[in-house]
Amino acid sequence: MVSRSFAIVGAGFSGAVVARQMAEAGHTATVYDTRPHVAGNCFTARDETDVMVHVYGPHIFHTQHQHVWDYINRFGEMMPYRHTVRAMVGDTMYRMPMNLTLINDFFGTQFTPEEAEAFVTSKADATITNPVSFEDQALRFVGRELYEAFFAGYTKKQWGVDPTELPASILARLPLRFTADDSYFNHPFQAIPRNGYTPIVQAILDHPNITVHLNTRFNKSQSGSFDHVVWTGPIDAYFNFEHGRLGYRTLDFVKEVHDGDFQGCPVLNYCDVEVPYTRITEHKHFAPWETHEQTVTYREYSRLCEENDTPYYPIRLVEEKDQLLNYVQRARDERNVTFLGRLGTYRYLDMDVTIHEALQAASGMLSAMADGSDIPSFFTDPIGVA
Ligand code: FAD
Ligand code: UDP
Repeated sequence: MVSRSFAIVGAGFSGAVVARQMAEAGHTATVYDTRPHVAGNCFTARDETDVMVHVYGPHIFHTQHQHVWDYINRFGEMMPYRHTVRAMVGDTMYRMPMNLTLINDFFGTQFTPEEAEAFVTSKADATITNPVSFEDQALRFVGRELYEAFFAGYTKKQWGVDPTELPASILARLPLRFTADDSYFNHPFQAIPRNGYTPIVQAILDHPNITVHLNTRFNKSQSGSFDHVVWTGPIDAYFNFEHGRLGYRTLDFVKEVHDGDFQGCPVLNYCDVEVPYTRITEHKHFAPWETHEQTVTYREYSRLCEENDTPYYPIRLVEEKDQLLNYVQRARDERNVTFLGRLGTYRYLDMDVTIHEALQAASGMLSAMADGSDIPSFFTDPIGVA
C-alpha cells in the first residue's frame, strides 16, 4: 500500500476522527486548527471554580448508533447522563419537552395519558397536512396555546426570524410524549465524558501518524504539499466568500460564578420573547458525579453572526440554500479536497452524526484509494439533507 499524506483542516470531532482512521490505515495526517485547543466547539475545560465548563455551550452526547457509541467509548470514560430541561413561561417553571406533566401543569388539568393525548389532538390543527414551516409543524403538533407559550417567543429569539419563515425540521428535533417521562432525548445511549470532551479528542488524535498544529490557519495555497485535503472549516471560507457569507447565528455567553446551586437544573429555557436571553445553563449539573461549592452559569444571547464571531447555528433559509448551492457546485469541481462536518457541509449536526459521517467519509476515502478512483468532494449531499 502506498502511504498518502492528508491535511486535515479542523481539530473538532470531524477532523480528529478522519485523521485517526487515515492514520490507522497507514497514511499520515497533519491536522490544523486556528484555535489554541483541539475539540472544536465541543471543547471543555475546568475554570477557576474547578467546574468542567462547556466553553462553546453545553454538549450532551446522545445517539442511536451502536458503532458510534462503541467508537467514543474507545477513547474515554462516558458517564451515564439523562438530560432534562426546564422552561420558564411567565413566572412558572415547566418540565420540557412536551409531556404529560407539562400539559397538566400548563392547562391546570389532571389528565391521564389517554386523556392528555385526546386533548392535545383536539387542540392540534389537523387541517395542516403538509407542514412546511416551523409554525405549521408546531400548530399541527400541539396546537396554538402550547405553541405560543413554549415555541413562538423562544424561536424568534433563537433564530431572529418569525417561525413562519423557518423550516419544520427544526421542531422535529423535539419529542412529544403523553407519559411523565421528561428525558430531553429519546436515544438509547446518553452520556457525558467523565473528564470532558477535550481528552477524548486528544486521545483520538494520539497516534504516531498524526501531527497537530494548533493556533495555525490552513490556507488553500498549502494544499499542493499534500495528496488530499479534508476541509472541516466553513465551506464559504474555502472559496474566499466569493458567493457571499453563509448566514449563521452566533451566541454570546454571559458567564457568572455563584456560591451553591443557582437554578437546580442544567438548562432553564426562557420562552417569553420579552426576556432577552434564550436560556441559562449551569455547568456543574452536566457532571452530577462531581460536587462543587461554587457554580458557573452561562446566560445565552443569540444574534446574527458577524465576520469575527464564532459561527454556531447554520440558518439555512431559502436565500442561504441558494448560496450554498453555488458553493457546493464549486466544491464538486475541486480535486483532492473533501468537505466534511458542521461547517464544511453547513448543517446543524449533533456530535454522534458528526462522528458517524466522519467514519463514513474515511471509509469512502480508503475505498476510493484502493480502487484508484478520485476521492469525492462530499460523502453526504449538503443540499438534500436538513
Ligand atoms: P467544529 O467543532 O466546529 O470544528 C471545526 C474546527 O475547524 C474549529 O475548531 C475551527 O477552529 C477549525 N477551523 C476552521 N477553519 C479553519 C482553518 N482555515 N484552518 C484551521 N482550522 C480551521 N451536539 C450534540 O451531540 N449534543 C449537544 O448537546 C450539542 N450541543 C451544542 C450546543 C451548541 C451551542 C452548538 C453550537 C452545537 C452543539 N452541538 C451538540 C453540535 C456539536 O458542537 C457539533 O456536532 C460538533 O462541534 C461538530 O464538529 P466539527 O468537527 O464538524 O466542527
Ligand atoms: N425550542 C423552543 N422552545 C424551547 C426549546 C426549543 O422554541 O423551550 C425550539 C427552538 O426553535 C430551538 C428548537 O426548538 O431552536 C430545537 O431545540 P433544541 O433544544 O434541540 O435546540 P439546541 O439545544 O440545539 O439549541
